[in-house]
Amino acid sequence: MLTRFAPSPTGYIHLGNVRTALVCWLYARKSGGKFMLRLDDTDIERSKEIFVEGIKRDLTWLGLGWDLEMRQSERLARYREVVEVLIKDGRVYACFETEQELDVKRKMQMSRGLPPIYDRAALKLTEEQKQKFLAEGRKPHYRFLMKDESITWNDEVRGPVAFEGKHLSDPIIVREGGSFTYMLPSAVDDADYAITHVVRGEDHVTNTAVQIQMFKAMGKVPPTFAHTAFVKTKEGKLSKREGSEGMQEFREAGIEPLAIASFLAKVGTSDPIEVRASLEELVAEFDMKKFSRSPTIYAPEDIDRLNAKLIHLYTFAKVAPRLKEMGLSAIDESFWNAVRPNLKTVNEVKDWWTICRETLSPEIEDADFAKAAAEILPTGKWDEKTWDIWVNDVKQKTGRSGKTLFMPLRKALTAMEHGPELRNLLPLIGRDKAIARLHGKAA
Ligand code: GLU
Repeated sequence: MLTRFAPSPTGYIHLGNVRTALVCWLYARKSGGKFMLRLDDTDIERSKEIFVEGIKRDLTWLGLGWDLEMRQSERLARYREVVEVLIKDGRVYACFETEQELDVKRKMQMSRGLPPIYDRAALKLTEEQKQKFLAEGRKPHYRFLMKDESITWNDEVRGPVAFEGKHLSDPIIVREGGSFTYMLPSAVDDADYAITHVVRGEDHVTNTAVQIQMFKAMGKVPPTFAHTAFVKTKEGKLSKREGSEGMQEFREAGIEPLAIASFLAKVGTSDPIEVRASLEELVAEFDMKKFSRSPTIYAPEDIDRLNAKLIHLYTFAKVAPRLKEMGLSAIDESFWNAVRPNLKTVNEVKDWWTICRETLSPEIEDADFAKAAAEILPTGKWDEKTWDIWVNDVKQKTGRSGKTLFMPLRKALTAMEHGPELRNLLPLIGRDKAIARLHGKAA
């Protein structure tokens, strides 16, 4: 079995693409097969090397290594060869309409309530008419001739699917300038590389009907198809997440690749959306049959929730190298274990460390109040109950409550108005630092 992920390097990959990549990868791994990365870069103007690098970096970050790699731009001669054969076989024909002429045709069909199917006027052109167009400087574009026959396949997600060839417009496969559109090269590659399973989004269902005729025209057997249903937020497609589209934004926000992979492996399936500690676990649970054929609406916060859950499973040994990279090699196991339940991202550990162990200049609103509070700091061993005992005493002694009680203490102890729970922080800050900070001293 061989699956392939075929992004066009005209931009970075977003959650929607990554889901397709992940499902292809999981399917291959589960079946003991291989996974190919195919770069659909026939659009020379819009394809950029920076996006190729970005796609590879993102897949690598997610742990989705590929066994084979290919680029469509290196196979143009092969596509031309196939086009030549299909022209000889009468399955590809030259057309001379301009964009504007086609537009007028489409508008007229629409105004008459007809589907915008190409009328095949080009097939009626005589050799003289064609020569005349060429002499005028018109360059041909080429269409694939759809056969008037039923097209059916058994989709691994959607079940039996049927189309009638006559209801599909003959697609343009070679543009006026000679460049290829997506449709034919994809079918040629899937056939030449013996892709066994094509997994992609449901927006490709109609393309599949066309491509099945292309496989047959080339004398090849079509692969198995699986078209996954869309996963959307209430606002729209999966590609958008609070204005951030790419993996880079997730990385910067401290989202772990496995949180994304867990989410994307489960969303739109019959499994609950839960985090898994490794890609291997996701492989073990993968089954194409679990995928729903109807679109799913999800909440973007799900990824954040999974991220927090995942981090709460991280042992100190696992994060130690990362802490070192973050310049936090002073963090030890007990500190990590103490703050871990409160982290939503690994990056947040830095805030806790700064507050608890670095020197801070406290913000004192009312020196007398802070000093009075310092005097009654509990003695003995400090734990998460210390804060409640202390605050209660301060309340009794000063008569303060609510914000006027908590805010000055928070600012004195952390020099911030917001931050991690003081209940958890206080034992980590320790008595000496707490006393000094309440007295307005940098500590
Ligand atoms: N380059 C195409 C896309 O990005 C690939 C579709 C396919 O999987 O065949 O949609």
